[in-house]
Amino acid sequence: MNRRRFIRVAGAGTLAGAGAVGLTAAGCGRVRKLLQIDNAPSARVAARGATTKVFSICDNCVNKCGIIAHVARGRIVKLEPNPAFPKSRGMLCAKGNAGVKTLYDPDRLKHPLIRTGERGSGAWRKATWKEALDFTAERLLAIRERYGPQGVLFSSCESFQERFFRSLAQAWGSPNLVRHPSVCLSSSNLAWFITYGTVPEFDLAHADYVIASGANRFESFITPDSVDLSDGLRQRKAKLVYLDPRFTVTASKADEWLPIRPGTDLAFYLALIHVLIEEQLYDRAFVEAYTHGFEELAAHVTRFSPEWAAAETEIPADRIRAIAREFAARAPKAVIYRGRRTSWYQNDTEMRQAMAIANVLVGNWDTPGGVVPNEKLDLGAPEPPEYPWPDAERVDAIAERHPLASAEDGAYIELRDAVLADRPYPVRGWMMFKHNPMHTLPDRRLTEQMFRKMEFVAVIDIQPTDSGWLADVILPESTYLERTDPIEEFSVPYAFAALRQQVVKPQFSTRPCLDIMKGLAARTGLGRYFDFDIDQYIAAQLAPHGIDRSAFEATGVWSNRTARQYGVTRNPEFRFRTPSGKIELANERLRRNGYPPLPEYAPPAQPPGGQFRLLPGKQALFTHAANQNNEWLHELCAENRLWINRAVAESKGIADGDQVRVRSRIGEVKVRAFVTGRIRPDCVHLPHGFGHTTSALRRAFGRGASDQDLIEPRWDRISGNAALHETFVTVERV
Ligand code: SF4
Repeated sequence: MNRRRFIRVAGAGTLAGAGAVGLTAAGCGRVRKLLQIDNAPSARVAARGATTKVFSICDNCVNKCGIIAHVARGRIVKLEPNPAFPKSRGMLCAKGNAGVKTLYDPDRLKHPLIRTGERGSGAWRKATWKEALDFTAERLLAIRERYGPQGVLFSSCESFQERFFRSLAQAWGSPNLVRHPSVCLSSSNLAWFITYGTVPEFDLAHADYVIASGANRFESFITPDSVDLSDGLRQRKAKLVYLDPRFTVTASKADEWLPIRPGTDLAFYLALIHVLIEEQLYDRAFVEAYTHGFEELAAHVTRFSPEWAAAETEIPADRIRAIAREFAARAPKAVIYRGRRTSWYQNDTEMRQAMAIANVLVGNWDTPGGVVPNEKLDLGAPEPPEYPWPDAERVDAIAERHPLASAEDGAYIELRDAVLADRPYPVRGWMMFKHNPMHTLPDRRLTEQMFRKMEFVAVIDIQPTDSGWLADVILPESTYLERTDPIEEFSVPYAFAALRQQVVKPQFSTRPCLDIMKGLAARTGLGRYFDFDIDQYIAAQLAPHGIDRSAFEATGVWSNRTARQYGVTRNPEFRFRTPSGKIELANERLRRNGYPPLPEYAPPAQPPGGQFRLLPGKQALFTHAANQNNEWLHELCAENRLWINRAVAESKGIADGDQVRVRSRIGEVKVRAFVTGRIRPDCVHLPHGFGHTTSALRRAFGRGASDQDLIEPRWDRISGNAALHETFVTVERV
């Protein structure tokens, strides 16, 4: 399929409900609009003769949109959106459409590999599954013998089968589990959780007024949320206020773009709260009935006037006042949207806490167009035998260093430091599932040192990665189109369940994660934790509802409701899962753990003369470093470029497309420049996920540069989440 054809097809899903959305291949420096066509199977598909349709679920990012796969003669000929899927409806983004090219990528992993040369040398031998599983189990048992169960680290990223990987980790008895959210959104999760006692959703489908900080929905992450937001802007004349140091595609669709000084978003939100209280714009009845700590909050924010914030943020005081008034006037159908990745600054939890507090004040909780609680269906699961309590403490010591951080997610950067220092004990084995820390952890040199310190590393993935190339054994997982996963439940727009079912048989010698875990568990004396297969697991999930898989035959989804029930928790007797039982404005969990109960503000460090703040970010074509080798996506964008302000570039003699050297305190990269007026002069932007060093990914290899060669390892004080926007760089023409 040529690029023009693919752009048309990709547009089919993406824009079915979102004609206003444009996609910028940001790092490529050119705008390519996706065109809108209908979702009917194409003439080309029809020409292939009879196809069967299989309902399944996309796995190219965390959103998990519903798909219908068309299969002809055992091959998938088209993926299209499943209109009956309540969350994504008629949407399938470019990545979702291109998923078929991941399935048929000639560079993907085809069989287990055992390393034969130096670590990272790329010398492997093909192995049978028996050999690879025997080898992995023997090495893990040897490490347990020498260092104890805590000597093995288990790291993973989200997947419908991640539960099986984590089950093996818990059965193994290691306390050292770490997940991708601790370099992504754990600060946001924490802030919303400690405020509401739950991590809520946003009813963008009905919101009339949206404030978003750097949540670049129309360019970096085109998802069902993006479509709901776009529909609101076009159909209901909803208003979008967007804060970002860059004029992104989202900025171009906003009613108001505020090029905020990087690192000062907290000042903006504190001033917004100040106005809401000073001018008595808040929802007094809601605050009295449902919240805790209002008087303390009111006293706290008296000093954070719009005039004070204007000096910090470079947003005029009268604009801050006007936005606060509009926000209150449009409430409760008004939200400050949380976005996704929140690993920005060392005050990230406090910033997200301030966003949550401002939402609470206007009473938008559990109402149409507001901040809404998660709805649950309460699926069942097989009951596992009791897991052992780990004998050792976690090496990242989050219980002491970040007592409110999620023990499920850990603190990845600090964990790496501890492993490198053997503190408080050696960790020498590493089991890794579906993630690529060489691309997602700041400072690749340190991550590579961590690999080299290990006596054994096993990687489970679908394609060769820079992390996999540093392993001892690679256990290839079947792609999402080749396996059946557990039922997953969704909370937006209302609680429903969906089934990812196998579309085609595994094309090569790959296995689902569950089968890999069963193989390892059987060899390490832990088989009792996996005494089920996927069909039995699904049956146990559905048992509480008295249904079976046939309930998913007609549309691929099932629910016992058809719409969200708003207002269930708007009952003064309802107890929120917080220490006070109320939504907490002054936060008791923070106070009890030695933190200020309300967000404090400290001005961010500024780049020294001649330096720039590095802002990493995503492009909607790619999920981290996972899709750059996809043929269609690569055709749209082959490499990233460094965004640099036009006036700054001219002063440095840098022209668009010039090769530049970017240096930080920890490293340097060479990359081509994208000279633009769409970024503030005090920062530069490098899209994330490029700079692959593994030649096995033949398209992605050596294209662009990795932000993780530049970003200094820092973290948010409260959550331990990475702080990826705290690095200053120099830029010069090569
Ligand atoms: S947003 Fe795109 S990549 Fe993510 S699940 Fe949906 S279709 Fe797939």
